[in-house]
Amino acid sequence: MLFDTHTHLNVEQFSEDQKEVIERAQAAGVSKMVVVGFDRETITHAMELVEQYDFLYAAVGWHPVDAIDMKEEDLEWIEELAGHPKVVAIGEMGLDYHWDKSPHDIQKDVFRKQIQLAKKVKLPIIIHNREATRDVIDVLKEENAAEVGGIMHCFAGTVEEANECLDMNFYISLGGPVTFKNAKLPKEVAKEIPIERLLIETDCPFLAPHPNRGKRNEPSYVKLIAEQIADLKEMDYEELARRTSDNAMTLFGISR
Ligand SMILES: [Zn+2]
Ligand SMILES: [Zn+2]
Repeated sequence: MLFDTHTHLNVEQFSEDQKEVIERAQAAGVSKMVVVGFDRETITHAMELVEQYDFLYAAVGWHPVDAIDMKEEDLEWIEELAGHPKVVAIGEMGLDYHWDKSPHDIQKDVFRKQIQLAKKVKLPIIIHNREATRDVIDVLKEENAAEVGGIMHCFAGTVEEANECLDMNFYISLGGPVTFKNAKLPKEVAKEIPIERLLIETDCPFLAPHPNRGKRNEPSYVKLIAEQIADLKEMDYEELARRTSDNAMTLFGISR
């Protein structure tokens, strides 16, 4: 079995064929998935999906790119949803210095507020980081995020940075880039990070793994990511699939 810990089945790229995409995932051995909401619209869709399918779970949070749009009532709404039995994490949240829409200080403020909320509702957090690794790690330390732990999603940093995150009670999640020929860092991280702390994800519809790079990504492709990591770790594929699924269920508190 495979557990795709980061999907966006809730976005418009899947509005035409969502049902078929979910069926293909199941046929590929994906038995559980988390649907990540990151604004008003995608959170609403994530909650609809988890009501519909028993093997789907939700994460609810506010994306750093849109930090400038978050209002006090959005945070209150996320806190309310956190009490829903199928909400297993708060996020995605974090820092994104690639896009200019939200100033860094506003991103940090919204990030901190969500960490504080996760500590209040006692749920792990899902971290989005783009070109901001140092600041992300600093905020996590200052807010003592280790208390709830969580996931460094689609991790793109070095082995040293990954180890710093492990020390803070975080799991490292790898996605499509680990299959790219020129992606040195994710391959090193896959090799060096202990299997006890690894997760897999697609981040679909983005970042499709090789040989589908550039196309729309979907959860069935998480198999390609698992195969690549099994190769890098010189581990049996079935074993890798089982161990990463176990890790996800432990973190999200999903019973077997
Ligand atoms: Zn992200
Ligand atoms: Zn995402």
